[in-house]
Amino acid sequence: MGKEIVIGAVPVVVAFLVFIGVNVAPFIIAALILSFLFFFVTKQGGMSMAQKRTTVDVPKTTVKFNEIGGQERAKKELKEALDFLIHKDSLKEYGIRPLKGLLLTGPPGTGKTLMAKAAANYTNSAFVAASGSQFVEMYVGVGAQRVRDLFKEAKQKAEKNNQDTAIIFIDEIDVLGGKREGSQHREYDQTLNQLLTEMDGITTSEHPRVLMVAATNRADMLDDALLRPGRFDRQIVVDLPDMKARKQILEIHTKNKPLAADVDIEAVARDTFNFSGAQLESVTNEAAIYAFREESKEITNRHFSHAIDKVMMGEQTDRESTSEERERVANHELGHAIVSEVVRPDSVSQVSLRPRGQALGYVRQSPQQDRYLYTLENLEQQIMIALGGAVAEEMLYGGRSTGSRNDFEQALRLVNTIIDSGLSQLGIVKMDMVGKEALHEERQRILNELLDQTRAILRTYFPVFGHALNHLLREEVLNGDEFRVMLVEAQALPKKNNIEEIETHLMNA
Ligand code: ATP
Repeated sequence: MGKEIVIGAVPVVVAFLVFIGVNVAPFIIAALILSFLFFFVTKQGGMSMAQKRTTVDVPKTTVKFNEIGGQERAKKELKEALDFLIHKDSLKEYGIRPLKGLLLTGPPGTGKTLMAKAAANYTNSAFVAASGSQFVEMYVGVGAQRVRDLFKEAKQKAEKNNQDTAIIFIDEIDVLGGKREGSQHREYDQTLNQLLTEMDGITTSEHPRVLMVAATNRADMLDDALLRPGRFDRQIVVDLPDMKARKQILEIHTKNKPLAADVDIEAVARDTFNFSGAQLESVTNEAAIYAFREESKEITNRHFSHAIDKVMMGEQTDRESTSEERERVANHELGHAIVSEVVRPDSVSQVSLRPRGQALGYVRQSPQQDRYLYTLENLEQQIMIALGGAVAEEMLYGGRSTGSRNDFEQALRLVNTIIDSGLSQLGIVKMDMVGKEALHEERQRILNELLDQTRAILRTYFPVFGHALNHLLREEVLNGDEFRVMLVEAQALPKKNNIEEIETHLMNA
């Protein structure tokens, strides 16, 4: 009643003030500002921090395991674990304690969230998802309250949907469950303790039954308490896809796209070694965008090639370089490509002069097979390929440029791998066991030997520079097959003429 009297009185007072000639504008502005502040404080700040939503509202998940490419072992392990959730009577019969937590570990974008969603679908569970960073607050107790809310919300959701089970998914669990150091008190000690308490409270007989699924890229960072039996005691590795899995993932994401006949998904899978599922999805999407921009009815092999470059190297830049710079970059890239093709036939997928990200040009290599173990020979070959650009510049211009900095970094990293893996003349050593000088000498010995071998290869194939340079400068891109044809053709050219041809070209440039 009081409210109504105040609301009714305000316009009467305003009308009276206007009538007696008072300027009411400042009062109205002040009233507006005050009401805005009042609204903000009550609706936003006034709400307890713990009440803020932590979970992402996920509608009923529809992801199925067969929509996840590759990851066969991980899917099998996950399904086996989920069977414990489904067959609760057998658990009782055998006296098996309930499975409370599953930890998915692996690099970003490999499908951990997808797996958790598919798990919810497979078990017909309610699904709530949150990220570890959402629990970390400056205010003591807030994170712990959020953990309680999360469990409550999962159970309510399952009850509302008449489901027997609920899956709580926490991404980036390392943010909330990192190792606790010493005895210093931290807000997220409380949050972590609350999570452990909630997990300990999970029983076979409760309804709905809850399963925690967490994901991390850094399992080694997690507090031991989280990993002990009875908590996250099942770890499932969700790794980068191999060649076969990449093909499957590409097929899943191209199902709804109009592909031209020249698209070879297997070749795309070969060219995308070390790509994650998320990157592969991005390749298919970018290829479709290129086709759309060109108003092409179908997505062609060329669109895929651009898309791979974009995902691997970044967006094409408009960096204008001088013609001398362009020519130097072209010869530098040809140096890499020649060595690559000589030491690993069929390995060049593309030589490009289009600046992308930080690179002014690049050679895309496509390994014939995924490789996870390297012999000394493999490492030396990779070092020679990295040195090929600088050696080409040396031979053609009498000196190197700053364009070889990244190549040298890569070469030095590989030299360190040789030494660290006990493949150098130092024998089986740890780097910090060896004196600085001895280490330096061994690094220089390896590099100098490989520089000499690289020079020998480029001297033998020197005519290729002259033969391929103009084509590369004109077209900007040489695909692997075109480059291989030039490599063969150039060998048939008289070597002397070709060197003269290059020298004349460089003098005229
Ligand atoms: P992060 O660790 O960064 O959270 P994640 O491992 O949880 O990443 P997801 O979020 O599951 O990765 O994957 C991101 C996207 O990548 C998915 O939505 C999907 O489009 C694609 N993707 C990843 N892996 C696969 C796969 N195995 N099969 C099909 N698509 C995949």
